[in-house]
Amino acid sequence: MSAFVTRLLFKSKDKHNTRSTKHTSTSKNWHAEDIKTVLNSLDTTADGLNREEISLRLDKYGPNQLEEVQVRGAILRFLYQFHNLLIYVLIMAGIVTAILEHWVDASVIFGVVFLNAVIGFVQEGKAENALKAIKKMLSANAMVLRDGRQVSISAKELVPGDIVLLQSGDKVPADLRLLRTKGLQIQESVLTGESLAVEKNTDTVAQQTVIGDHLCMAYSGTLITHGQGTGVVVATGSQTEIGRISTLVSEVDSVTTPLLNQMAQFSRWLTLAILGIALITFAFGVLVRDYAYTDMFLAAVSLAVAAIPEGLPAIMTITLAIGVQRMAHRNAIIRRLPAVETLGAVTVICSDKTGTLTRNEMTVRSIVTTEDQFELAGTGYDPHGAISVSNKNISTENSPLLSEALRAVVLCNDASLEQKNNEWFVHGDPMEGALLIAGLKGEIDIETETKQYPRTDLIPFESEHRFMATLHHSHSGDAFIFIKGAPERILELCSQQKTVNGDQPINKTYWSNQIEKMAHQGQRVLAIALKPANHELIELSFDDVDDGLIMLGLFGLIDPPRDEAISSIKTCSDAGIRVKMITGDHGATALAIARQLNLFNTNHALTGEDIDLMSEDELRQQVQDIDVYARVNPEHKLRLVKLMQELGLIVAMTGDGVNDAPALKRADVGTAMGYNGTEAAKEAAEMVLADDNFASITQAVKEGRTVYDNLKKAILFILPTNGGEALIILAAIIFGFHQLPLTPVQILWVNMVTAVTLALSLSFEPPEKNVMLRPPRAASEPMLTSYLVWRILFVSVILMSGTFGLFIIELDRGASIEYARTVAVNTLVMFEIFYLFNSRYLKNSIFNWAGLTGNPYVLIAITILLILQIGFTYIGSMQHLFGTTNIDLNTWLRIIIVSSSVMFLVELEKYIVRRKDI
Ligand code: ATP
Repeated sequence: MSAFVTRLLFKSKDKHNTRSTKHTSTSKNWHAEDIKTVLNSLDTTADGLNREEISLRLDKYGPNQLEEVQVRGAILRFLYQFHNLLIYVLIMAGIVTAILEHWVDASVIFGVVFLNAVIGFVQEGKAENALKAIKKMLSANAMVLRDGRQVSISAKELVPGDIVLLQSGDKVPADLRLLRTKGLQIQESVLTGESLAVEKNTDTVAQQTVIGDHLCMAYSGTLITHGQGTGVVVATGSQTEIGRISTLVSEVDSVTTPLLNQMAQFSRWLTLAILGIALITFAFGVLVRDYAYTDMFLAAVSLAVAAIPEGLPAIMTITLAIGVQRMAHRNAIIRRLPAVETLGAVTVICSDKTGTLTRNEMTVRSIVTTEDQFELAGTGYDPHGAISVSNKNISTENSPLLSEALRAVVLCNDASLEQKNNEWFVHGDPMEGALLIAGLKGEIDIETETKQYPRTDLIPFESEHRFMATLHHSHSGDAFIFIKGAPERILELCSQQKTVNGDQPINKTYWSNQIEKMAHQGQRVLAIALKPANHELIELSFDDVDDGLIMLGLFGLIDPPRDEAISSIKTCSDAGIRVKMITGDHGATALAIARQLNLFNTNHALTGEDIDLMSEDELRQQVQDIDVYARVNPEHKLRLVKLMQELGLIVAMTGDGVNDAPALKRADVGTAMGYNGTEAAKEAAEMVLADDNFASITQAVKEGRTVYDNLKKAILFILPTNGGEALIILAAIIFGFHQLPLTPVQILWVNMVTAVTLALSLSFEPPEKNVMLRPPRAASEPMLTSYLVWRILFVSVILMSGTFGLFIIELDRGASIEYARTVAVNTLVMFEIFYLFNSRYLKNSIFNWAGLTGNPYVLIAITILLILQIGFTYIGSMQHLFGTTNIDLNTWLRIIIVSSSVMFLVELEKYIVRRKDI
């Protein structure tokens, strides 16, 4: 058994070792069995399973996952597409048209209703699948012991008999019988409804007890709020308690956000308003213009179908789904869709330092003992690197204090090293890995040391107390405690220091100066101390380490900033977004790194202690100006977020620990680390960063702004089409035309074909060049600003004038009504093609190469639409269905000349607006 495993199991006390009934692995009473029996019946050991056994068991038990149930079946989902006010209007129109025996019109209307449902169904399915795929990327990992080695695997791969290591913040990945616990507390509300966490232990309980009393069990899906533990998997997948009492309801959010709801509501109001206008027009036509009832009814139907933006909700949903997918490609996984909109309005990003702004590739650069200051050469996890004092290489043999400090950090350490193909890899905390590497540089034999001084107990590291302590017993009967942690914290607890002449009273000024010096160089400083213990001590408590420590030394680690973080911070500052660093590290270290990163205010940092001493008002005054917060704990984070929000800022906040959850929940865009973050943090967050990288947040903000732009562009493109069509019908009725320029079926044709081709292509619009060069949108800004309303009206009038104008000209030239209508439809479609280019940029000019060709989907959509229009105009059956007829080349020329005017007029308007803005 490896030293590590011995360490893990050393603490497992089992008071009920008397029963020894034989079990099968299907036994349900694991809580009533002692550890030995459980391990035996699962045919496993404390070292975990071996590879062959795992694959056998995986075949036998299947993957550790629950069947997802579809919330709504496909048929229901299809029928649901008809549940829509606008569709009701169309169906009514179809029915009345049929009663009037206009069979062709009626069947086209029903055809469109059906087609709309099919398109809606397919698109919704696609969007949901895309989101599901993204959710899968979030699947949890589990830390297990296999073949005696600690490895991280996907929770899906767990099998009964696996030994799982639990940490605070994890979600329990399967049902476990606990083998060892250390302050382990688990919140089991998913199973018991009880929201208070329960303290776990390893003692068996009576068979007839309720699940909430099974203190020696950890159940799948529950959340670890504190401490550590080890357990053996007794059930996976649907065999787990959660699997048996419920089937997992698909976690996918419905594809909607507040903005989309707002727009859907807007569409409903619009539909009602349009119905009102259609009714008034109907009355006007019959009473004032003497139309026949049937004609006027058809006219009113035309008006209604013309003005209702059928495609808008679907296009907006797709735009959003595409945005979410793009973000996932950039390593930002959206858990709650509304975050996409909020991202575009973010004004402050509060980021962790370690691993997010820095590389989390730590290297020990300096070590300070009572007598010397050592420098360590080498980079990364390569254990080759000389140790020197004042540029002279030294050997650790002649530096007993250095050896002792190195031995201490190697023993007070949870990480492990692995050498693969001459490269070293760290399992566990990179900082602890760096300490092990420093040990190797100092010729410490890690394996021998851990065997010689096995660990008996520990106080795990938590960011609240900022240290970890381990208790060791040597084989000769000595016992001692090592404590490593934040240097000020350790210094407080020390009364002595180690010297070559034995232990002496501590010189706190010396150590404080050394800490300051190292921190100013941007090094992350750790202190290590020792305390001899009574050899009977086997359980470590906080009382054992709260005084009488002997200082051994300081370790200075460097963790260089990520290159991409530096450039992302520049991007943020151009985009009017302030970046704040909120770290658990020392103030001087944080400021030094902040300078390397070019944060805005690097003159002064606020520490957790400063924050504690400040009133809400005092802190509120500082919070906007200060960019570096050091030695901060999760409660401080929450306070900072609240105050920033009170100042009207929209805050994105990163976090990884269990205790970060409240701050993440409170922030406008809570952002959890996907790699190093706990499940608790991920569940509280709106967004998860797959690569823990600050640059991914900036990318997500950029995508968020782009999605918002594209939603605006979709509205800006679709609504004038409806506006233009409605105006054409209205104008025709007002001027007393007895034959309308467009029939209902023609209008439906235009709306459908332009929505699925042109409008859809805008969903793929890439970010505009200046998207990160303008300030964030005000969160309160409505989607339909007065400028947008103006643009919609402006373009509607252009479309109406051109289409109606050409219709009249054709009639004047003596053309048939079919001919004039075919011209009107084609003019409208051509108008939209030209206007599509305008819509690509909200205010920027499109008269450049990128403006005309930058989105290939636009060009593809136009080609498809042109083919459709040729079919619509020239194919016999289409002519029959839509009442169209062949038109000649000269007419096409007139159509193109008239319809291209929209492009120039809108560009002229944009130009004037741009000039006015400057
Ligand atoms: P950030 O919040 O930016 O990720 P951080 O990693 O420094 O920064 P914490 O993890 O809260 O924040 O750590 C706070 C301090 O606790 C560290 O600066 C270090 O001094 C100490 N520390 C961190 N990890 C350990 C550990 N494994 N053992 C002992 N002390 C530790």
